[in-house]
Amino acid sequence: MKITRIETFAVPPRWLLCRVETDDGVVGWGEPVVEGRAATVRTAVSELAELLIGRDPLRIEDHWQVMTKGSFYRGGPVLSSAVAGLDQALWDIAGKALGVPVHVLLGGPVRDRVRAYSWVGGDEPAEVADAVAAQVEAGFSAVKMNACGRMSRLATTRDIDEVVGRAATAREVLGGDRDFAVDFHGRFTVANARKVLPHLAPFNPLFVEEPVLPEYTHLLGDLVAGSPVPIATGERLYSRTDVLPALQAGVAVLQPDLSHAGGISEVRRIAALAETFDVPVAPHCPLGPVSLAASLQIAFSTPNFLIQEQSIGIHYNEGAEVLDYLVDREVFRFHDGCFLRPTAPGLGIEVDEKAVRAADNSSPDWRGPIWRHPDGSFAEW
Ligand SMILES: [Mg+2]
Repeated sequence: MKITRIETFAVPPRWLLCRVETDDGVVGWGEPVVEGRAATVRTAVSELAELLIGRDPLRIEDHWQVMTKGSFYRGGPVLSSAVAGLDQALWDIAGKALGVPVHVLLGGPVRDRVRAYSWVGGDEPAEVADAVAAQVEAGFSAVKMNACGRMSRLATTRDIDEVVGRAATAREVLGGDRDFAVDFHGRFTVANARKVLPHLAPFNPLFVEEPVLPEYTHLLGDLVAGSPVPIATGERLYSRTDVLPALQAGVAVLQPDLSHAGGISEVRRIAALAETFDVPVAPHCPLGPVSLAASLQIAFSTPNFLIQEQSIGIHYNEGAEVLDYLVDREVFRFHDGCFLRPTAPGLGIEVDEKAVRAADNSSPDWRGPIWRHPDGSFAEW
C-alpha cells in the first residue's frame, strides 16, 4: 500500500481537515489545525506531504520521526499540529486496513465509557447558573467555564468576587456529586493566580486550567505548591519535551491536544510520561470531529485518562457543528454524559466527504480576538 494523494480542506467554523488517500483505496482523515492559523498549517501540511507521497502508510512511527525531525528547525504549534493531523490520518488508515479501531492497535480498551465535560462559557457570570443547569439536564456530570473575562494585572476585589461568584454558583447548581473545572485561559498574571486560587478552594473545583501562560512554566512549581486546588495545563504544549517541566512542577492534570501535540503517536507517549508522575490526561478538544475521534481512541486505550473535553453544540462553533461533517452521528451520542466505545475500524467515524468538499474555503479564516485593557494596552484573551 502506498500513499498517493494528500488534500486539505478549510471548513467552518475554523477547522482544517486532511484526507490521505492510498492506492488500495483506503482513505484516512486527520485534523491538522491551530485555531486562527488554519492557512499557515495548511501550507505546513502540504510541505510535509512531500515526505509521505509514494510511501507505505503503515510505517507510522517512521513517518512521525521523519516529519518531526527531518528538518533542522522543528516543534512549535504550527509544525506539531501539521504532523498531528497527518499522524491521525495514518492511524485511521492503519485501523481501516487491518479492520480494527485504533484503540485496539494501541493495546485494546481499558474502559467501557469515556466521561466528557461540557462548556458553560463563564464570560457572563449571570448566565452561569442557567448554563450549568442545562448541562446537568443534558446528563453531564462535569462542566468547565472561564474564570473571568478580561482580567486586570492585579485583581480588584470586584474581579475576585466575580471569579468566586461563578464557582459558588456552579457548585450550588451541581451539588456534591458533579464536577466543575475553571479555565483561567492564561488571562491571569502569576501574582493574580496566587491571589485568586485560594478563594476557589471552598468550592472544590476538579481543576483550574492554565492558571498562568505556558511561558511562565518555570514559575509553575511554586504556584502549584501554594495552590489549594489541582492545577491543569497542556493545551499549548506540543511534545513530551514541552510537557516535562509542567509535570516536574507538579501539575495535577495534563491536557495535551490531539491536533496540536503530534497526534496519536505523541499523545500516547505524553500520557505514558505523565503516568510516571501519577498524573492523568484530560485531552483538550475544542475542535472538530476528527480531532474528537482521535481523542476518544486515546481515551479508551489510556489507563491514566481523566475526562474528555468536547465542543458538540457549543456556542463558539459558528457556521458549522462537530456533527455536520459526519455520515453517522451516533458515534458521538452521549449516554449520561459519557461517550461509548467506537467500534468501527480506524478512528471510528465516517467523514461526510461531500459535505467537507462543499464547505472547503466557504468561510473567512477565523482569528482569535484581540483584547485591550481600559488604558488601551494589550490584554490576554
Ligand atoms: Mg483552556
